[in-house]
Amino acid sequence: MAKVKYQDTPVLIVGAGLSGLACAVTLAKAGVPFLLFDQAEKIGGRVQTDEVSGYRLDRGFQVLLTAYPEAQRFLDYEKLDLQACYPGSKVWFDNRFHRVADPIRHPMDGVKSLLTPIGTLGDKLRVGMMRMGLLSSKSMPDNCSTINALGEMGFGDSMINRFWKPFMRGVFLEDELSTTIRKFEETFRFFSTGDTVLPKKGIGEIPIQLAGELPQENILLGTKICKVDRDTIKSIDGNQWQGRAVVLATEDFHANQLLGLDQPNEEWNAVDCLYFSLPTTDLPSDEPILYLDGSGEGPINNLTFVSNLCSCSPPGQALASVSVIGKKDLDMEKIATLAMKQLFQWFGPMVKHWAYVKGYRIRQAVPSCPNPPIPTPALTRVFRCGDYFGLPSIDAAMKSGRLTAEHIIKEHNFLQVNGPRN
Ligand SMILES: Cc1cc2nc3c(=O)[nH]c(=O)nc-3n(C[C@H](O)[C@H](O)[C@H](O)COP(=O)(O)OP(=O)(O)OC[C@H]3O[C@@H](n4cnc5c(N)ncnc54)[C@H](O)[C@@H]3O)c2cc1C
Repeated sequence: MAKVKYQDTPVLIVGAGLSGLACAVTLAKAGVPFLLFDQAEKIGGRVQTDEVSGYRLDRGFQVLLTAYPEAQRFLDYEKLDLQACYPGSKVWFDNRFHRVADPIRHPMDGVKSLLTPIGTLGDKLRVGMMRMGLLSSKSMPDNCSTINALGEMGFGDSMINRFWKPFMRGVFLEDELSTTIRKFEETFRFFSTGDTVLPKKGIGEIPIQLAGELPQENILLGTKICKVDRDTIKSIDGNQWQGRAVVLATEDFHANQLLGLDQPNEEWNAVDCLYFSLPTTDLPSDEPILYLDGSGEGPINNLTFVSNLCSCSPPGQALASVSVIGKKDLDMEKIATLAMKQLFQWFGPMVKHWAYVKGYRIRQAVPSCPNPPIPTPALTRVFRCGDYFGLPSIDAAMKSGRLTAEHIIKEHNFLQVNGPRN
């Protein structure tokens, strides 16, 4: 069979987040020319690490799960120098922290967890049964919320309020656990079958590694696209490109805007992420473990000393990443003050030496997902991809980008027949 020879007219990809990057890498590997555009000055979209006063701050606490199939496909884990979190957490309840451990990976800690007030003995057995596949929510409908499903599986209030709520809030980035049970199942499976990790230099290393596989001259940053036709895109500064196909790898609402489509009532889950620096001598522990608020008093939902995982602070200093969920009505200064009070309660007077470094208010973190998305057929020659095509995550974004690229590659007849138009 003759090898398909692609002509030079590129596929135009708008959006250099993980979906756009995965699309570009897939096309590049197949020899399909492409141009990748983003309005921002940096690739990565929602996955960013910023350098601020000697600290490396991830824009929101997010983690990679090594079991993600697309991450395994696209990323070189060794080069990312991945650092693993302890598979469990410390839960604040009744004025002290209680360790809750994965009973399969840390059986000894798991046994000790049986004695904590974080759930009843029956609840802990249920978790063990879930880990062994003996208890499952698979028969529940797609639109069943996680909170209802946990109740139906028999978990009691002490487990739901003290553990599941703070833990899953930190994953879903919404307060009520109204996210579909399918997302819970997927997350639980990935947490159970792999490690929860961060690249040593921060989450932003993931898009940097992907972009490293692409010719840099094909990436046009600081280029906001304002008009899209069948095979042509136009930037706000008046430049125009014609391609074989256009891929919108933007967030859903930006794609709708560019296509002039009605905006469905799109909801987003949000998070405020605050960073505090502290002398390394003040670190309560050098363990890379997640701290959760099981008391429900807040405002902090979860905290990680990220410097126990990453190279993210100057010598002598450690860094705490704090996530606050559902406090959109309070301004960041107020949240920082309330968070400090909570930290004082959690870690004692040494918190006086801690300093607020920076806060990120992320209003559009992940699309709300009360139902799994329904795949929609492509209606025009303009393709779309993004995390909103799946249960939103790093993995869903990369999968969607790859599938879109594979679809375009398969349609190489279209690529050849239509040819350049100018
Ligand atoms: C705080 C936070 C925590 C998270 N935690 C996790 C986690 O722990 N684990 C996990 O798996 N996932 C997590 N996620 C989700 C994950 O980061 C996203 O699902 C994923 O990065 C989305 O990638 P994307 O390519 O679909 O979209 P985006 O990253 O949003 O990329 C879209 C790109 O399109 C560009 N764009 C938009 N309009 C235009 C235009 N007109 N012209 C040019 N460019 C345009 C944007 O600038 C952007 O770069 C988290 C996200 C956030 C924000």
